[in-house]
Amino acid sequence: MDEARCKVLSRVVTSEELYIIDNVKSLVFCCDECGIELLPCSFLKDVNLRKPYFKTRKGVHHKQGCDAEGEAKIRSKGANTRLTSTEGFPVAYPNRFKLRKDDIAESEGVTDTSSPDSQRPNSTRDKDKSGANGRKSNYETTSFSSIVNQYFDFPHDRDRALSFEGIQGTTYADIFRQIRSTRGKQKYLIQGDKQKIYYASLPWKLSLEDNDRILINLSAGKWIIQEGKKVNERPYYLEVNFSNWPQRSKSKFLNDYKKTTELVRGTNRKAAIAFVGGQDTKDDYFRFTSIDRRLIAFKIFNDA
Ligand SMILES: [Zn+2]
Repeated sequence: MDEARCKVLSRVVTSEELYIIDNVKSLVFCCDECGIELLPCSFLKDVNLRKPYFKTRKGVHHKQGCDAEGEAKIRSKGANTRLTSTEGFPVAYPNRFKLRKDDIAESEGVTDTSSPDSQRPNSTRDKDKSGANGRKSNYETTSFSSIVNQYFDFPHDRDRALSFEGIQGTTYADIFRQIRSTRGKQKYLIQGDKQKIYYASLPWKLSLEDNDRILINLSAGKWIIQEGKKVNERPYYLEVNFSNWPQRSKSKFLNDYKKTTELVRGTNRKAAIAFVGGQDTKDDYFRFTSIDRRLIAFKIFNDA
């Protein structure tokens, strides 16, 4: 299976995240639908050739009525093909995002910076909430990573409904915006004057922290030809100021950034950074900033 609920992080974790999360062995995972324990497998990158996944203990089966495995099969097709039909999207998904007002996860000593995911509607718990066609209803989430995962995991279904606190728009496509490179003689491109979830892929070269802040270079920028080679002469960048961040959140952020970049280096996969914020349209057009440390996420994806 490609995802499981983690009780310690109080959210759904995708199998890919197992490469990034520290101390996977100390965490307990379960099926988000029926609650049986799931074991993380194949998550040591240098040792395992197979991609990470979750499995049930030997001889243990999902509870009766749990269709998590069927749904996982449907979801896995979403990377290459559109899943939405005249009947709508075939599985329940988060269509509302609200940031939690407090940061309980952190005060309880959990190192994860994303907020807990709200419980997904469950076939046994929430039978009444299913629609007439027997499908589960879409749901609200407080996990920014969940929203980012949905956007990248279903690149052909970005017209699905989403309402996101603080951002205008009614679909995933409205709310996300890719940061683009300049073209031809353009000196810069104004593309971030509205608050949105901006994203860009990351170059293989890591940017380094300096004086409690980091300027993370993005692959988008002003590209020129230099000695026959394409060079990003002036990259767009995300400035992250750590001065008000809890130390733990900062360490986790830098660690996630490094691990994510290392995972894609030399491969044909890409790492993206996604954040809520905007572009500096006064002093430095190449500068982007984020509004909240809980609204930044890394994501490994196949270029769509
Ligand atoms: Zn199950």
